[in-house]
Amino acid sequence: MTAEIIDGKAFAAKVRARVTEEVARVRASGITPGLAVILVGEDPASAVYVRNKGKQTVEVGMESFEHKLPADTPEAEVLAVIARLNADPAVHGILCQLPLPGHIDADKVLAAIDPAKDVDGFHISNVGLLATGQKAMVPCTPLGCLMMLRDHHGSLSGMNAVVIGRSNIVGKPMAQLLLGDSCTVTIAHSRTRDLPEVVRRADIVVAAVGRAEMVTGDWIKPGATVIDVGINRIDAGLKEDGTPRTRLVGDCDFDSCAAVAGAITPVPGGVGPMTIACLLANTLTACCRANGLPEPA
Ligand code: NDP
Repeated sequence: MTAEIIDGKAFAAKVRARVTEEVARVRASGITPGLAVILVGEDPASAVYVRNKGKQTVEVGMESFEHKLPADTPEAEVLAVIARLNADPAVHGILCQLPLPGHIDADKVLAAIDPAKDVDGFHISNVGLLATGQKAMVPCTPLGCLMMLRDHHGSLSGMNAVVIGRSNIVGKPMAQLLLGDSCTVTIAHSRTRDLPEVVRRADIVVAAVGRAEMVTGDWIKPGATVIDVGINRIDAGLKEDGTPRTRLVGDCDFDSCAAVAGAITPVPGGVGPMTIACLLANTLTACCRANGLPEPA
């Protein structure tokens, strides 16, 4: 292996430590930053995310408000909860855990969140602000990727970046952020022709596809930086008691990519931990903006 491992877990711990210090400063002025998370239904992965978010919110000294609603909650009731949270001065950040049950229109729910409290950065106002280079709430996963890239490279100006994936929550905002840092950006997707050749031109590869170990070392330009956003659970044989064993892998085949890349994020322990850390940072920023306090660096 030649690549330097970008340790997202350690980086996220540093971000949380900085947020903890800043929260103490804000609390000294009599305000406690608060994050409200809405979970509709019992999706087990979502329940784990929400629990982790709540735990880490409290650990950095913020207030955590959890709203767990049954899977059959009518859309109007979810919108009513959001309206109450929008009006609540103790709540600075609102996050509605996706995916939502099929009878609820996610676009409608996201549009109902006050853009100033939209710590996920999915409201169309924040999407537009980001696209036009203005002060926005930036989606947490791409923000975490950008922070790791800036930390590793310093300036990203002039670098060729290829983002694989064009979702609204990862691929598109990631591309906007890299463009904002003056990269030359290509967005690849399922219809891209000769994807390996496109990726081979990249100084920075961000893989956000959802396909286990799709990107292999022969796609990577020697010395490139690989940011692996993918979280895929794959079979890993059987446990001693005969039950199936699974393990988490990214969208990149770690061993072959690490043999060629200059730096790479592992899965787990790369992008994942940074996402919640950025959520906490966004909540703090929202609180400071709402109260006219200096924004954290
Ligand atoms: P989506 O399914 O919304 O988007 C996947 C994208 O990958 C689409 O744009 C799709 O193209 C593209 N794609 C699919 N197959 C191919 C292919 N064979 N070649 C090229 N492109 C392809 O996923 P998300 O953006 O929500 O998530 C991506 C991954 O990141 C998932 O593994 C998810 O679990 C993970 N994730 C991790 C987070 C973290 O905190 N670490 C947070 C969020 C997501 P098209 O548009 O043409 O269909």
